[in-house]
Amino acid sequence: MTTPLIFERSMPGRIGFSLAECDVPRKELKELLPEGQVRSQPPGWPEVSEGSVIRHYLKLSQMNHSVDSGFYPLGSCTMKYNPKINEDMARLGGFAKLHPLVPETYSQGALKMMYDLEHYLAEITGMDAVSLQPVAGAHGEFVGLKLIAAYHRSRGDDKRTTVLVPDSAHGTNPASAALSGMKVVEVDSNCDGEVCLDDLRSKVDDTVAALMLTNPNTLGLFERNICEIADIVHEAGGLLYYDGANANAILGIVRPGDTGFDVVHLNLHKTFSTPHGGGGPGSGPVGVNKKLVPFLPVPRIVKDKEQYRFDYDLPETIGKVHSFYGNFAVNVRAYTYIRMLGAKGLKRVSEDAVLNANYLQALLKKDYHLDYDRLCMHEFVLSGKKQKAQGVRTLDIAKRLLDFGVHPPTVYFPLIIEEALMIEPTETEGKETLDYFADAMLQIAKEAKEDPDKVTGAPYNTPVSRLDEVGAARNPILRWHKEE
Ligand SMILES: *Cc1c(COP(=O)(O)O)cnc(C)c1O
Repeated sequence: MTTPLIFERSMPGRIGFSLAECDVPRKELKELLPEGQVRSQPPGWPEVSEGSVIRHYLKLSQMNHSVDSGFYPLGSCTMKYNPKINEDMARLGGFAKLHPLVPETYSQGALKMMYDLEHYLAEITGMDAVSLQPVAGAHGEFVGLKLIAAYHRSRGDDKRTTVLVPDSAHGTNPASAALSGMKVVEVDSNCDGEVCLDDLRSKVDDTVAALMLTNPNTLGLFERNICEIADIVHEAGGLLYYDGANANAILGIVRPGDTGFDVVHLNLHKTFSTPHGGGGPGSGPVGVNKKLVPFLPVPRIVKDKEQYRFDYDLPETIGKVHSFYGNFAVNVRAYTYIRMLGAKGLKRVSEDAVLNANYLQALLKKDYHLDYDRLCMHEFVLSGKKQKAQGVRTLDIAKRLLDFGVHPPTVYFPLIIEEALMIEPTETEGKETLDYFADAMLQIAKEAKEDPDKVTGAPYNTPVSRLDEVGAARNPILRWHKEE
């Protein structure tokens, strides 16, 4: 039995507030407001006590899984614990209440924060300049491809309209390429789960604008041939785009710029710790090497002596890509995170993220199929094909995990793994949590063998069970309406 929603508990005359008598005569209100804006009937809101309202919303919040309430190994999303000091800094009055149109003389602190963050990110990625303007990874991809197109155009190289994308890529890569007017050509993976060099060689020609690559790739595997890949693309006149969604594996260890990438985006909401369940807000700064700097979005933040200011004087810029200067508060969180950890701490983040993933991979490969059995980076991808043969799909395994109070891994991605389960534990979990998760996964594997119905019927402990997800997206019911 579920507790009735607050709206169904309404009792005529019950109230949760007390206000002084209204001293605006009804007649006058009608004179003040245009016709049609004054209600003839009360709005029909539920009549409940303050206590019921609090319990209602608290209960609703407890129905959601969150990083703060449990383990969240959602591969590729880097659902790490987000330190609360980031929130305190983003809420400082000087940041949170600063109007974006305030004159530069009054916003020097905010400008310095943005200027410094751009330089830290350039240092971390090995690039020459960074723009904080894009507000998501996908937005960074789009901006990066626009920069690449502007670069080729500036050299009169107009044929370059193709973007190469590996078959393991995240869906946003081909989508961003298509959106920026490019043609997408897929590159195959080889039997090690990396870019197939022969296939790449057969596809580069003088129409290639860029290769988009994630490293480590979405299988959680480091592309060991990255320098050779860069040479192949550069020799053909193309550029290299780095999808930085997996940067949590490489901080302080390898810099994309040093391995040949020309453009980089980072997902600050992933690697640099902003809560991002539910889809936003994010920040997807773009870094470039020297030859692409002239095309960066305006304004750029520059420093003259000790004064910071916005510079719009960039004749070859691709223009503005977002209102004001991006998602400022997400950038404050990233700045805080970087300053709190320092260079050593950031390196430790990646070392621990990689260690945690390898520990889990070693525990789970006993009972789950692993296509690429080698050391992984910050995540790894299992296949549920053994369990599928027993009548249990990966979706069922994901649903059964909910009964253990764990958010499921990413499922059915990357597309090149049958019944994929993509697991990213992050550095912020201790051994006890990893062991608990491994035990749950191994128990589910046992159930799949001995009692598959138990898995296919899950979840049993959640407020709602299997949902019509497409229906919920297509026909969302977002408001309560009083039944007539
Ligand atoms: C998350 C992700 C993206 C897209 O980033 P958003 O910030 O969600 O737009 C791109 N590539 C990979 C590999 C990702 O994991």
